[in-house]
Amino acid sequence: MKKFVVGNFKMNTTPSQFSSYLDEFLPRIKDCKTNIIFCLPATHFHVASLRLSATNIKFGAQNISSEKCGACTGEISNEMVKDCGADYTLIGHSETRRKFKETPESINQKIIRALEVNLKVILCIGETKYERTTKKTKLSLKRQLDTALKGLYENELRNIMIAYEPIWAIGTGKTPTPKEIEDTVKDIKDIITDNFTVRAAEKMNVLYGGSITESNCSQFSKIKGVSGLLVGGACLNAKSFANICK
Ligand code: PEP
Repeated sequence: MKKFVVGNFKMNTTPSQFSSYLDEFLPRIKDCKTNIIFCLPATHFHVASLRLSATNIKFGAQNISSEKCGACTGEISNEMVKDCGADYTLIGHSETRRKFKETPESINQKIIRALEVNLKVILCIGETKYERTTKKTKLSLKRQLDTALKGLYENELRNIMIAYEPIWAIGTGKTPTPKEIEDTVKDIKDIITDNFTVRAAEKMNVLYGGSITESNCSQFSKIKGVSGLLVGGACLNAKSFANICK
């Protein structure tokens, strides 16, 4: 099965820098079979829509509002993102959870908003270092998933993938071992089975994210149950990201 590689640009580059980045990136991935997705600042959507429409590369937002429209200064709605040509949105990244004080309920609301306009969701979940060392990872992920997916029908899960991103691994250069990731992905699938069905769990794409680099990516992408990678810092270098995708 084709793997996914998602590049999360966070708040990096200007739109013109992103255009120059694509000048370098696109020729390098010509024959690449990976499903590539860029999660971009909204300011970059017009460049993405112009430059990526003739490719198989998709793009998406890094967050959307939990509201449909109205008095939400500074926010961007589901329809706005979709209308710019985006196919995806990240939801519940640990940085948006922390900085914008997202709650499990607002994350659930954002997922519902995304699905309403056929935006595919990359739902980020992960444990703290304390939760990992005290063996509370599964419990923490269960709490996050139970509320995030509350009220959804099983057929809506086909538009959702889960990015398992241990909070302590994001941007730190630290990663879990491949065995820890394999076990955690199994835990995630068990939680999906409990909330939905075995079939839903089998079909769910689970990505790993956290300190992926060009040199460690292949060991993580080969882990049983892992459908791809979510890459932050290392996606900002066009050559490195192209190599990760390949
Ligand atoms: C991320 O921001 O989702 C991420 C995985 O970052 P990094 O690759 O830099 O750890």
